[in-house]
Amino acid sequence: MDRLREKDEEFIWHPYTHINSKPAAIPIVKGKNAILYDENGNKYIDGISSWWVNIHGHGNKYIARKIYAQAKKLEQVIFTAFTHEPAVELAEKLLSVLPGNFSKIFYTDDGSTATEVAIKLSLQYWKNVGDKRKKVLAFHNSYHGDTFGAMSVSERGIYTAAFEDKLFDVIFIDTPDGKNIESLKAEVEKYKSEFACFIYEPLLQGAEGMKMYNADGLNSLLVYLKNERIICIADEVLTGFYRTGKFFAGDHLETKADIICLSKALTGGTMALGVTACTEQIFAEFVSDDKTKTLFHGHSFTANPLACVAAIASFELIQKKEFIKGVENVISHHQHFSKKLQRLEKKNYIKNVRQIGTIIAFEICTADKDDYLNNVSKSFSPFCLRKGVYLRSMGNTIYIMPPYCITSRELKKIYSVVVDFIEYHLKENAF
Ligand SMILES: *Cc1c(COP(=O)(O)O)cnc(C)c1O
Repeated sequence: MDRLREKDEEFIWHPYTHINSKPAAIPIVKGKNAILYDENGNKYIDGISSWWVNIHGHGNKYIARKIYAQAKKLEQVIFTAFTHEPAVELAEKLLSVLPGNFSKIFYTDDGSTATEVAIKLSLQYWKNVGDKRKKVLAFHNSYHGDTFGAMSVSERGIYTAAFEDKLFDVIFIDTPDGKNIESLKAEVEKYKSEFACFIYEPLLQGAEGMKMYNADGLNSLLVYLKNERIICIADEVLTGFYRTGKFFAGDHLETKADIICLSKALTGGTMALGVTACTEQIFAEFVSDDKTKTLFHGHSFTANPLACVAAIASFELIQKKEFIKGVENVISHHQHFSKKLQRLEKKNYIKNVRQIGTIIAFEICTADKDDYLNNVSKSFSPFCLRKGVYLRSMGNTIYIMPPYCITSRELKKIYSVVVDFIEYHLKENAF
């Protein structure tokens, strides 16, 4: 029974895991919709969509059949000289729905490589144009991935501390709060003709604590930056595919990005795939007889056919009525739950209750600093697991981000476990 756990301990290094305090990893043998089953038959409701990727639930047969059929035909082919139907069909479909005037799709492997390409595209664009713009602008509390370029444009903190001196310089500004727009513009103004690009997670900063910010403010900032010819890169790796209640977070904004990055829910949470889309204006600067203007970037599995068919299948499921009903169901239950949370907020047990679309978040009030190392994270996940729910806090930030197929009953179960945790631990004075 413990064979897998032991071998796992022996052979495997898990992501974002403090080795000395980690409980043994739980072997999961199958998943169905919002439920994960372990090898002993225990069930866990997947309250964070398996790290934010899974939107249709686990074990989706429709997507599985498409992947199987494609695997029998063509599992992979080098994407330089060759192309294939899944890559072309997916690109065309995406271009028809993306929020902006995008004309080309560049395929990558995941969210980090999607943002890497976006940054490389922007910097090389200005080089190809023959302009000296080199500076990069980003938001405080941003997260754009774990590779070096992606880390460079992310908040400097615990995730990046060990590599600090190897990261390139970026100018960070606050997110708009509805009042600070003039001071944000003033900060950009100083170097405005030196900025190559601005990268941002629209409306929701995920990995730095599910921070939500003002759409009107972002819109004014984008208008200003675009006017200064700064390339605006929307990192929608997390916010895409109805996380914020609309297809893309960019659909809440009037001003559209020049480059957009997608991954996570792109394949419905089944296969690793990333996308970087850009406008014709950007692409045009890479079209030249001069070979040095080429984008020298690619991955072995660029446009993997299995990942592309999975994304197409997910896309087809998104068009169905049940899909939108699922999204609306999560949103309305969250709204109801946030009222309950607000009562706990009044008692100062928790703070900053907030919701955007299918994500609800808040912080537990503790004597500790509000950061990733806060003690809440040690007890929260194990507490929930014992009660049949999988949630993972980021420090004392607790959030719920379920697959949209989750039932009302399952959602209520998650909420009750969260409330139990807040009440039980405050009574015990655990923090
Ligand atoms: C998760 C995430 C990434 C990185 O994606 P990976 O697939 O984990 O490399 C980049 N940007 C945002 C906004 C993310 O949430």
